[in-house]
Amino acid sequence: MRSILVLVLCLVFALSTHGQSPLKQPSESAVDRFLRYVKIDTQSQEDQTTVPSTRKQLNLANLLAKELTALGVENVRVSEFGIVYGIVPSNLGGNSQVPVVGFISHMDTSPAVSGENVNPTIHKNYQGGDIVLPKDTSQVITVAKNPILKEMIGDDIITADGTTLLGSDDKSGVAEIMTMIDTLKQNPQLKHGPIAVAFTPDEEVGGGIEKFDVKGFGASLAYTVDGEALGEISNETWSARTATVTFQGKSTHPGTAKGIMINSLYAIADYLDRFPHDMLPETTEERVGFVHPYGGVLDVESSSLKILLRDFELSGLDAKEKLLREMVAQTQAKFPDVKISIDVKENYKNMKEVLKNYPELTENAVEAARRAGLKTSIKAIRGGTDGSNLTFRGLPTPDIFTGGQNFHGKLEFNSRRGLEKTTETLVNLVQMFAEKSR
Ligand SMILES: [Zn+2]
Repeated sequence: MRSILVLVLCLVFALSTHGQSPLKQPSESAVDRFLRYVKIDTQSQEDQTTVPSTRKQLNLANLLAKELTALGVENVRVSEFGIVYGIVPSNLGGNSQVPVVGFISHMDTSPAVSGENVNPTIHKNYQGGDIVLPKDTSQVITVAKNPILKEMIGDDIITADGTTLLGSDDKSGVAEIMTMIDTLKQNPQLKHGPIAVAFTPDEEVGGGIEKFDVKGFGASLAYTVDGEALGEISNETWSARTATVTFQGKSTHPGTAKGIMINSLYAIADYLDRFPHDMLPETTEERVGFVHPYGGVLDVESSSLKILLRDFELSGLDAKEKLLREMVAQTQAKFPDVKISIDVKENYKNMKEVLKNYPELTENAVEAARRAGLKTSIKAIRGGTDGSNLTFRGLPTPDIFTGGQNFHGKLEFNSRRGLEKTTETLVNLVQMFAEKSR
């Protein structure tokens, strides 16, 4: 009798302290989904005229469409460009005013490393130390270069076998979004508004997002799930321009060139020599921008140089452009016979310029991660995202972590906790929008 009373008291206590019973598990875990998706080769390819750049991306797109439908997602479709769209209906009922929140991740993997025959390897209950990849032991994930490993003791770390990339970028995001939907389906007590989801091709080659149907997607705000370490949320990207400097000389037969030939190579060499060494990608980090001469053509008659300009502040970007123009003037003064011109094009702008008007997007993501027990930080991305494109097309879209690391290489990894905690964050996040709109 007494033991029954204790049991009842314990039960009452448990219910009152936790408020609700633990969640029902999804029908398939984030890890199992991830392991399935990474085995499907979806590598995209540079310089293609079609979207998707590779047909094989459609294999995953069609599979995801089928799985979304099976999870009860509505209006599931694969567009002519291989973009998968769908809507998870609200479970609030009636005329609730919750905004449609979107989640987007990309299906393709980087052209930099093969994504064929990916053989994911689970390093169970990691106990510290460097991780040697089984099929190519020269591929080692070292603690020295990946201090985050120190926080992953006891976790199950997932890597490739050393011969391919893993494809965590961004099949982690895909698996996490799918598992969020699954979790919500198993747990109707979790209240949420309508959720739009999309999986895109060709993020790595920069073509897919141009074909994204913002209006058809149906969300008024969104998140890309394509970031790195747990807890890192990004609402800032570079502002980016590209400069082309052209050096026009005069070619002639070298045997009869005296007094006639104007060799543009010496002018381009002089120009390259003027780049400030403390303003290059290899000498800068964090919030410091750079100029980066990355390619060009060398020819007596005409040489040209392509240069990336990157900064988080538009004023910083303007200053870099001014510098490149001043360098042109200096080289021009030294080589008066070479005709030098500079052309600067805008690539994309820091999405913060827009997202600063939607602070709740970042705040909610931070709070959702916190509720999942994560330490959070706001990180400026030293690059661009599909979200920056969407943000400037009217769909404000910051970026959320995936738990993944070492993108675009054979040392890529994620972990069970990375996948599960990101999924939990997404589940928290949709509930927060419902809570706040009540
Ligand atoms: Zn990515």
